[in-house]
Amino acid sequence: MPGPNYWQQYASYRLEAELNPVLKRLTGRGRVIYYNRSPDTLPVVYLQAYQNLFRPDARRNQQTPKLGGIDFDKVTAQGKTLSAVAKPTEIGYTVNGTIMEVRLPTALAPRDSLVMDFEWQFRVQSETAPRGGQDGETWFISYWYPQMAVYDDINGWQIDQYLGRGEFYMGYADYDVKLTVPTGWVLDATGALENPTEVLSAQTRARLDSARTATGIVHVVTEKDKSDSVVTAKGKDGKLTWHWAVKNVRDFVWGTSPRYLWDAARAITDSANGKQESSLVSALYRPENRRSYWDEAARYGRHAVEFYSRRLWPYPYPHMTAVDGPDGCGGMEFPMLTCIGGSYDSLSLYEVVSHEIGHMWFPMMVGSDEKRYGWQDEGFTQYDQSQAMADFYKGFDDEARNREYYLRSAETGYEEDMMKPADRYGNDQTYGVAAYWKPASVLVALRQVLGRETFEKAFREYGQRWLGKHPTPWDFWNTFDDVTGQDLSWFWREWFFETWRLDQALDTVRTEGDSAAIVLENRGKIVMPVPLAITREGGSVDRVTVPVNVWFTGEKRYVLKVAAKPTITRVEIDPAHEFPELSRGAEIWNRGGRGRAITPPTTRQ
Ligand SMILES: [Zn+2]
Repeated sequence: MPGPNYWQQYASYRLEAELNPVLKRLTGRGRVIYYNRSPDTLPVVYLQAYQNLFRPDARRNQQTPKLGGIDFDKVTAQGKTLSAVAKPTEIGYTVNGTIMEVRLPTALAPRDSLVMDFEWQFRVQSETAPRGGQDGETWFISYWYPQMAVYDDINGWQIDQYLGRGEFYMGYADYDVKLTVPTGWVLDATGALENPTEVLSAQTRARLDSARTATGIVHVVTEKDKSDSVVTAKGKDGKLTWHWAVKNVRDFVWGTSPRYLWDAARAITDSANGKQESSLVSALYRPENRRSYWDEAARYGRHAVEFYSRRLWPYPYPHMTAVDGPDGCGGMEFPMLTCIGGSYDSLSLYEVVSHEIGHMWFPMMVGSDEKRYGWQDEGFTQYDQSQAMADFYKGFDDEARNREYYLRSAETGYEEDMMKPADRYGNDQTYGVAAYWKPASVLVALRQVLGRETFEKAFREYGQRWLGKHPTPWDFWNTFDDVTGQDLSWFWREWFFETWRLDQALDTVRTEGDSAAIVLENRGKIVMPVPLAITREGGSVDRVTVPVNVWFTGEKRYVLKVAAKPTITRVEIDPAHEFPELSRGAEIWNRGGRGRAITPPTTRQ
């Protein structure tokens, strides 16, 4: 757990931006105050210039539009105007791909702070851009301001380039943001709206108020409201400036459109000890996207927020909004907002909404490095999504789907280990297995090893210890070892650092005097305990688990002795089917017959 000397950096952003939808340009200006809470003196600081992913000459590992990167019109630090310089010895700044290096006039001492001012602009990318952009109707503005890179207690500056596939690592910060867009456009953003009377009509405000207490879904903005032009305040020169503020979040984003309908619902986030804490869950969508079930999105979002609040810990933010955005968004998470593009049926819309809302816990509240350890972000969220789906669709087995995706790769050997930066995988497929399907399946296996209650307790404890901080994989593993009182290093090593496979098998069951000998084989390299269901004549079932340490010597066979009577009719390994087992057919022994045919996984597109 973080010790008394644990530190992390902090920043405060005061930003202003205006969106010109005709020119498709964003112009911004702002002040960044950076607080050096590290014990180190910093002569150089780094910021993210993510928009440079879209420069024609950028390094990238995904296809993107190439409409240009970010242009800095002004950069000052410590009151001095800095210019772009090439020499690494000169005071000034250098932009290398998506990373901006600022060599300070005066080195930043421990416990001191630094003021920097910026003016910048960029062309908002078209709808095939990943994780934000515009499609002519909806505008999702992400990665839009110079953001401090993380300087942490493990690696120092984390300045890995943004190449497209690998995601992000962000520090916690305060934001005060003013956003100017055309009058009549609906806008939502990270944080709380500070000036509702200046930007929203009285009707919209009244409906939002009613959504905060109602039990059902409130239609805050309807098609009729839009045609009557009664959604926003009147504005000046055809524009409105929306003022937002928030503390202690990893990022700030916004979504806006002249076409959005707005549904809202109250989600109960904490009802323990007589409390009635709640948050406002919204869906912003175009009317025609009812065909993708967007008119259900507020209800889906409310369920996800309430479910995770109960299972993990209460959702702490004032709102959570699902935004119908450009196709390239797919589903992408940001603090309090998710941008979702594309077409959906009702199940897949619930799936993506609940997945992205799951990310509010990992990595928004528990701030791991997604770029280097994708599974700490995506794997945990995939696991959480499966729990939400099982609750919403009463028993829907999303975990089986995760296992199937992982096993299909494991069977063919088309797999890379989990402990690699996202951008170092051979392709999106092997990254997807290592970041989503395998870790989600590994957590289910761990849950069976530990028992559900112990697993959930350790999982929550990890999150609680590292809330608002920067945990590494070792912090996750150590928390589990600590909470369970077990040395689980064998488990972490074989599943996380290797591409070994689990292949447990029943060789035979034979009678030896008063005993029955159940002969188990470990055919793969992975060792695991062996949970068994032993069915006897008359129908009674004994549950026995052979402990993992019988394999630690390298033995590949183990003989379990149990009573021979009543006669054993059937033995099955892992009867709950929660282990990612390579060849399930060899896991069953039936008296008078052997196992059952190995069925290949069905195809899922
Ligand atoms: Zn995700």
